[in-house]
Amino acid sequence: MVKNIMEFFRNLPPKSCAQCGEVIEEQHECYGIYCEKCTTDHEY
Ligand SMILES: [Zn+2]
Repeated sequence: MVKNIMEFFRNLPPKSCAQCGEVIEEQHECYGIYCEKCTTDHEY
């Protein structure tokens, strides 16, 4: 049932920022759990 698995990943909810809750459109690993704006604020 590979087809169902692929649909499962497509239907995954969008990644959202842990701080402001804004949806993170692109999943950049370097951004972690924060959106681009909050990542900049944190200055890791
Ligand atoms: Zn944020």
